[in-house]
Amino acid sequence: MTVPIRLAIVGMGKIAHDQHLPAIAGTSNFDLVATVSRHGANLNGLPFFPDIEALASSDVAVDAVALCTPPQVRRQIAETAIRQGWHVFLEKPPGATLAEVVALRDAAEAKGISLFASWHSRYADGVEPARRWLAGRDIRHVAITWREDVRVWHPGQEWIWEPGGFGVFDPGINALSIATRILPRPFFVETADLDLPENRAAPIAARLTFRDAKGVPIAMDLDFRQEGPQSWDIVVATDAGTLTLAMGGGQLSIADGDPPEVTNDLRGEYPGLYRRFAAIIRAGVSDVDLAPLRLVADAFLTGRINQVEPFIE
Ligand code: NAP
Repeated sequence: MTVPIRLAIVGMGKIAHDQHLPAIAGTSNFDLVATVSRHGANLNGLPFFPDIEALASSDVAVDAVALCTPPQVRRQIAETAIRQGWHVFLEKPPGATLAEVVALRDAAEAKGISLFASWHSRYADGVEPARRWLAGRDIRHVAITWREDVRVWHPGQEWIWEPGGFGVFDPGINALSIATRILPRPFFVETADLDLPENRAAPIAARLTFRDAKGVPIAMDLDFRQEGPQSWDIVVATDAGTLTLAMGGGQLSIADGDPPEVTNDLRGEYPGLYRRFAAIIRAGVSDVDLAPLRLVADAFLTGRINQVEPFIE
C-alpha cells in the first residue's frame, strides 16, 4: 500500500470547506495533518496555525499543501511552501499574475517538488468525452455563456472585487479552462468589453470574441448579475451536429449527431483533482497549464472598459 501524502490546507474559506475537506476525507492518497487559517480553525482536533510560517516552524510533518486563499495572496504562501520542499496545489486561478505563476513553476522545478495549477472544471464529467467527440470534427463556431448571481455564489467575498480578484472572470476562467481543453486549437482574444461598476476594481460583466488559428469564431458572454436560472454553457456547432456542455461541464448532449461516448470514471471534480495531485507527486512532475490565465490576462490587456452602475451587495 502506498503511504498517504501528509497534507495541510491553507485558507479555510468556502472552497476549502465545500470541496477540499470532503475530497481529502474520501481518498487514501492524502492524510490531512493541519490547517492554516488567519482566524484559527480547530478542525477535528487537528493542529492549526495562523500562517504558513507558523506551520513551517512547527513539528508537524508535512509533504504537501493545498492553497485555498484568494489569488492575490497566494504567491508568497506558495514561495514559502516551495522553500520548505512541500508539493503545492494551487486553487484556480493559480495566481493574480502570469509572471508569478511562471516564477513558482521555475522555483518548484529547481526544488524538485510538484506544483499543480488546478482547473477544477476540467474534471467535470462531460469535459473529456466532449474533447474526444470534438477531435477531428469541423468546428463552425462556439458560444460560451457563463451567467451567475454573484450574491448567491460569492456572498461577502470582497477580494473578488479588488485588483487581482478577477471579478466575473473568477468563474469565467473556469469556462476558459474547459474551452482550452476541449477545442482542438489555441484561440486568441479579438475583442473584449469589460463592464466595471464605478465603485469596484474588477468587472461585473464582459463580452469577448476570440478566433482560433483556422478562423473559427468563439463568443463569450459573462455576467455576475444573473438572477433566476443560471447558465454555465458551452455550445459548439460542428459539421456533425451541435455539442452542448451545460452545468459547467457536467452535462453533455449532442443535437443532430451521434451521441458521444460517456464514461463516468471521474466521480466529481475535486476527487479528480486530488487523484491528479497524488499522481503528479508520485511521478515527480508538475502540472501547470497557463492557457486559461493567459486569455484572461489578454482580455484585461486589450479590453475596452465601460463604467457601469455601482454594485452594492
Ligand atoms: P473565500 O470563501 O473568501 O475563502 C478564502 C479564504 O482564504 C478565506 O476564508 C481566508 O481563510 C483565506 N485568506 C487568506 N488571506 C486572505 C485575504 N487576504 N483575504 C481574504 N481571504 C484570505 O473564497 P473561496 O470561494 O473559498 O475561494 C478561494 C479560491 O478558491 C479562489 O481562488 C476561488 O477562485 C477558488 N474557488 C472557489 C470556488 C467557489 O465555489 N467558491 C470554486 C472553485 C475555486 P482564513 O480566514 O481561514 O484565513
